Amino acid sequence: MKRASEIEEAKASLLRELNERRAREGKPALASYPDAGCTSCGEMPASGVPLFATSVPYIRTCQDCVLKEFPFRKLRLSRAEKIMWYRNNPTFHRSSDYGIVLTDQALYLYSPFWFVFARWRRIPLSEIRGAEFRDSRLFPALHVQRNGRDAVLRTPPDYPDEMEYDRRNLIEAAERLRTVIQQ
Ligand SMILES: [Zn+2]
Repeated sequence: MKRASEIEEAKASLLRELNERRAREGKPALASYPDAGCTSCGEMPASGVPLFATSVPYIRTCQDCVLKEFPFRKLRLSRAEKIMWYRNNPTFHRSSDYGIVLTDQALYLYSPFWFVFARWRRIPLSEIRGAEFRDSRLFPALHVQRNGRDAVLRTPPDYPDEMEYDRRNLIEAAERLRTVIQQ
């Protein structure tokens, strides 16, 4: 548990970054760290725009801000499409990253191993028949069963801690997909 003064310091530095982003977008600076709404843009999301909690209690991100970050900024969603869950693993030593996005309409997978102009793959939820996690020492993978060819997202080899984080993401993705297709 962090001390209160450390949290205040973290919020002060996040507020500075937030106001730099706001200045670039021509928005007025905020006087204090936002207790509600998106802590990336400082706005309350418009109605229907999801706001995501993170593992840090005072950091929240709206869908618009998620879609401004790599690798999600190359993802094109249809109007009114809502992200339900997303994961990636932006570590400083990796030159690239993967991405998993589950919306109310489709699953989107992004792999650094795929051809550069086709890295985001869209699978409509209606085409998904099953999903499972298959472990491996170097390339743990999410397998998504569909009517035609299965889609497979492998996460890259990395330090053990990072690979454990990736495995948990792949396991959760498979669990969420199985829940969604049962509905
Ligand atoms: Zn935002």
